[in-house]
Amino acid sequence: MISVAIDGPVGAGKSSVARESAKRLGFIYADTGALYRGVALYTIRKGICDGDADYKEKVEALLPEITVEPKLIDGEQKIFLCGEDVSEEIRKPEISMAASSVSPIPAVRDFLLDLQRNIAKKNNVLMDGRDIGTVVLPSAQVKIFITASPEIRAKRRFKELAEKGVDTTLEQVLNDLNRRDYQDSHRAVSPLKMAEDAVLLDTSDLDFEQSVQKVTELARAAAEKE
Ligand code: C5P
Repeated sequence: MISVAIDGPVGAGKSSVARESAKRLGFIYADTGALYRGVALYTIRKGICDGDADYKEKVEALLPEITVEPKLIDGEQKIFLCGEDVSEEIRKPEISMAASSVSPIPAVRDFLLDLQRNIAKKNNVLMDGRDIGTVVLPSAQVKIFITASPEIRAKRRFKELAEKGVDTTLEQVLNDLNRRDYQDSHRAVSPLKMAEDAVLLDTSDLDFEQSVQKVTELARAAAEKE
């Protein structure tokens, strides 16, 4: 099995580049952020917010009730939370921030770890997230850290949200992105960081096609070596 681990900050283009690259390679695309978003949505529905006293303990207590299942439907990953398809709902900006709040909790990370590893055991996979190359799939044949300048990432994110009809401003998107990246890279457990053996792909001056080309080239080179 070939595993391509893709990590990077918010809005670097990880998911769109990984999704298209996986399609061209005939690999499965696994979006691990969606799993954290699923847990976050559950906590919000239960009225639990970051800032509550005993936030961590409250989230931990909910974990036994939660099932988060990624399912491939027509080649697309859909996320089912306790049996309900929440693929659209988890994309809301408030869920992005909530995902970044639940993700530093070690019990949440443990809860999702085997699920992610099992996907890579059974499939050739392009998996994206924050700790895929460092923690989830440390033996991945290819590791890519995708980034771009914060301004460019905010513009891309803003465009994506605007296309979905989400009412927000570029400034708000840039603030949320900086806050989330800070939280994700400063947490104690599995912080966002580039694996030592990862290739750095800065997409600031690359278009979508060029980024996809680069990722597929790296994956094909690894597949030939196997
Ligand atoms: O990738 P996405 O923006 O959907 O991820 C949402 C949040 O989930 C991130 O901001 C991060 O806090 C968390 N996450 C993580 N580890 C991963 C994937 C996502 O901590 N592998």
